Amino acid sequence: MGLYGAIEAGGTKFLCAVGTGPEDLRAIIRIPTTTPEETIGRVITFFQDFRSKLQAIGVGAFGPLDLNPKSPTFGTILTTPKPGWSGANLLKPLREAFNVPVYLETDVNAAAAGEGRWGAARDLSTFVYLTVGTGIGGGAVVHKQLLHGALHPEMGHIRIPHDWKRDPFPGVCPFHGDCLEGLASGPALKARWGQPPESLPWDHPAWDLEAEYLALGLQTILCILAPERIIMGGGVMENRSLFPRIRQRVREVLSRYLPIPALQGDLEDYIVPPALGDRAGLLGALALAIGETG
Ligand code: ZN
Repeated sequence: MGLYGAIEAGGTKFLCAVGTGPEDLRAIIRIPTTTPEETIGRVITFFQDFRSKLQAIGVGAFGPLDLNPKSPTFGTILTTPKPGWSGANLLKPLREAFNVPVYLETDVNAAAAGEGRWGAARDLSTFVYLTVGTGIGGGAVVHKQLLHGALHPEMGHIRIPHDWKRDPFPGVCPFHGDCLEGLASGPALKARWGQPPESLPWDHPAWDLEAEYLALGLQTILCILAPERIIMGGGVMENRSLFPRIRQRVREVLSRYLPIPALQGDLEDYIVPPALGDRAGLLGALALAIGETG
């Protein structure tokens, strides 16, 4: 029986595994992210052992990425602050080494693919996966297809209303200052309150402000994509008290305006945590490898 390869390519580590699904995900290894040559070299060495059975490889990677097949730099990481990785090609060395299809997506699009196949968005055709952690990023599946255009979506960098009186914090995004990521990512919480989010008590005023910003971000996403569900993951969302606060705020800003059944009630089935937990990245990459046919 064939096997599929999965790579969760992050800024600090690459996780690799082979398997066929959530019940069969094995040989997981962790490779530190050093230089592209060394890291990708070790990834290739790992998959050599499975070469004869390997059907395809899926990669969910940090970005931004060039995902346009017509582009001369297709498959590369675009400008990234990660030293040595701007312009690194993730697709080519894997394709050359194994001669199997290799599917590359952003980490958030991969997570969306995994949640769609096995997790919190099974049987839905249009949904969003938003991660709130070191950064904020969103992946979208629209009519069962991962959404790209000229680039992949960059939902973390949308503008949201910023009441400077209530929150004089200028934001941490090096490009925009007070975009959604600049105001509501983990580093923004740490810079504004002087302590990392995991050490802020649940009744700290930080969380009401955080829920407000995330709800305003969701409002924009919701009005543009009209997803059937929004999955929210990432380190900041580990504070589960955020979910009811965000749902309540989204209800206040939207539900009377959009009288559709999914947006009535408590939104407990509408704004949800991921179902695949800490394996979401790898399973997402595996879902890319399996694609429509596996
Ligand atoms: Zn920004």
